Amino acid sequence: MSEPEKEYIVGAARCESYAPQEVKGALALALSRAGAPEVRGGSVLIKANMLSPSEPEKAVTTHPEVLRALAGEMSKNGNAVHIADNPGYVHSEKNRLLRTTGVGALVSNGVSAGLLSDLGFRAVRRDSFKALQEARISSRYLDAPFVVNAAKLKTHVETEISCCVKNIFGTADTATRKKCHGSTSQAVLADAITDLFTVRPPDFNVVDAVFSMEGDGPSHGKPRNTGWILAGENALAVDWAASAIMCYSDPLKIPLMAAAASRGIGPRDRSQIALVGAEWSDLPSWGFKKSTSLIRLLPTFLRGFAHGFVSLRPELAREECVRCGICARVCPVDAIACEAGAYPAINRPSCVKCLCCHEMCPTGAMAVHKNFLARIAGRV
Ligand code: SF4
Ligand code: SF4
Repeated sequence: MSEPEKEYIVGAARCESYAPQEVKGALALALSRAGAPEVRGGSVLIKANMLSPSEPEKAVTTHPEVLRALAGEMSKNGNAVHIADNPGYVHSEKNRLLRTTGVGALVSNGVSAGLLSDLGFRAVRRDSFKALQEARISSRYLDAPFVVNAAKLKTHVETEISCCVKNIFGTADTATRKKCHGSTSQAVLADAITDLFTVRPPDFNVVDAVFSMEGDGPSHGKPRNTGWILAGENALAVDWAASAIMCYSDPLKIPLMAAAASRGIGPRDRSQIALVGAEWSDLPSWGFKKSTSLIRLLPTFLRGFAHGFVSLRPELAREECVRCGICARVCPVDAIACEAGAYPAINRPSCVKCLCCHEMCPTGAMAVHKNFLARIAGRV
């Protein structure tokens, strides 16, 4: 009996380094294996991950060599290419962001770069929203005729994985993102991110997993040479392959992926995906350090109840703090007081343990405190 036809195609290509020729060749291979469409005579928006002004080698942002190769592919047929992101809300200084991430150096004839906020945001409501009532999303993103989602593969202390579906979270404005993070439930956050994703799913997806981030991502984990470029039309299908690189045997245990799959935006089972260019068993980067979240080890129905006992909490390391006040500005529930020039003070009863302060702290001074159970989880 012949195998049933696969619904989703994911292209994979080995890429060990960011040497320009190697990245160019691997990206072209991944695109052709994934059956990337030819875009002609229009404009293409590349939604990169530029979370913060971080150097490419820190693996916080999509590497500029991957973006260079992608912009080259997309501009082949006379398309104007624009590379943009709406970085973590406090990092809106465009020139510094573009310079430090290396994206500014890609600007040339036919390729531009900037912020997704530069044409403003529009309010969007959908009957299908589960967690949000309204989202404000970048007009540039909503109106782009063709969007390529260029994600970076990273761990995430709240959502466990940051890849294609999560990358679209960056299209929303600050208020919407704070609303999403203000929940104490991982499941509600997953539904909110999925709500945002469904408004305007990207037309194509590419993942920079040449160096991924392991440990306490998405800002303060460690780079790890995982050696892949992935591509595909369906974001969730590509995330299935990305989660295999991170050694997840059952991605549906990740609340974000379970929420996205339950909304029918992609595969519910690996058997629906044709992985071209690799075997599934080739993907895992053995020993990859997942985010330290004990929650992932619990059955879904226990997660809401157990969140308070096993979730991580922010802890200030004063010696690394430069008293910039960013943590207080990003806190979605105003649980941090920070007078000008003073050290921040966390109001514990108000804190919902979203770890946005940790994510956005430029020095790593707002560390993640791991209780006994969480430390055990880190070894699992
Ligand atoms: S903890 Fe980090 S973000 Fe907060 S004031 Fe100190 S350096 Fe700035
Ligand atoms: S103090 Fe930090 S972890 Fe707590 S709610 Fe505010 S941003 Fe989130």
